[in-house]
Amino acid sequence: MSKPKMKNIKKAKNIIKNSENVVVFTGSGISTESGIPDFRSPGGLWEKYDPYVYANYDMFLKDPEKYWELEREVTKMVEPALPNPAHKALVTLEQKGKLKGIITQNIDMLHQKAGSEVPIYELHGSAMTATCVDCETKFKREEILEQLEERKTPVCSECDGRVKFDVILFHEALPMHTLMGAQEITTDSDCFLVIGSSLVVSPANQLPILAKQSGAKVIILNLEETQMDEVADVIIHGKAGEIMPKLVNF
Ligand code: NAD
Ligand code: ZN
Repeated sequence: MSKPKMKNIKKAKNIIKNSENVVVFTGSGISTESGIPDFRSPGGLWEKYDPYVYANYDMFLKDPEKYWELEREVTKMVEPALPNPAHKALVTLEQKGKLKGIITQNIDMLHQKAGSEVPIYELHGSAMTATCVDCETKFKREEILEQLEERKTPVCSECDGRVKFDVILFHEALPMHTLMGAQEITTDSDCFLVIGSSLVVSPANQLPILAKQSGAKVIILNLEETQMDEVADVIIHGKAGEIMPKLVNF
C-alpha cells in the first residue's frame, strides 16, 4: 500500500475514533465485493439491461414484463449475496457506539443481512415488499419470489394488476419521509463517511455537502474520483472490503 494511502487511512481512522455521531452513506460500490455489480462495471448486467429503460417507471406502467425481465436477473444476484467485510465493519462500528445511522442507495438488503441494527434509511426504497399500482395491495417479497419462480410476470393476486417491488424507478419520486430522516441524521452527524458511491445521483449527492455545512468531517472511500471530492476532508481510493476493517480497528 502506498504511503499517501496509508496516511489517509490513518487520518480517517482518527476522525472516526474521535467522533460520536458517525453517519455512513453507502452506494452500490460497497456491494461489488459481494458479487453485485454497480452500474459502471463493464460487461455487467447494466450493459445488457439499460437501467434507464428497464428500470423506468413509465416503461413499467406500459410494459411490466420488461421490468420483471430485469428483476428476475437482479433477484438471482441479490438473493444469494452475502455481506462482505465492509458491511461487517459497520456492525463493528455500531458495537463501538459510534454509528448513528446508515443511509443507503442500495436495494440489496446486505446491511440488514450483516446485522446492522441502527436506523437504515433506504433512499431508493426497499425490495422487501411490493405493491400493486392498480389497487395498492401490499405483498411480502417471498410472495413475489414464489410467483417469479412459477411464471414470467408476477401479478396482483387481488386484481390481476401490475405489481412491482417498493424500490423506486427512474421517473419516480424519492420516499420523502426517508429523505427527510436522512437529512436530519446528516445534520446531526460529526463524521459523514461515504462508501462506494460515484455521488452522481441527486439529491443523494447533496448529503455530503449538508454534512460539511453542519460541521461534520467528510470521508469519501471509493475506487475512483467522485463528483463531491471537493467537500471531503479525507479521500481514500481503494476497495471497501479491504479498507473498512482497517478504519474501525481502534
Ligand atoms: P454508482 O454505480 O454510480 O457508483 C458506484 C461507485 O462505487 C463507483 O464510483 C465505483 O468506482 C465504486 N466502487 C465499485 N466497487 C468498489 C469497491 N469495491 N470499493 C469501493 N468503491 C467501489 O452507484 P451509486 O452511486 O450507488 O448510484 C447508482 C444507482 O445504482 C443507485 O441508484 C443504486 O440504487 C443503484 N444500484 C444499486 C445496487 C445495489 O443495491 N447493490 C447495484 C447496482 C445499482
Ligand atoms: Zn391489485
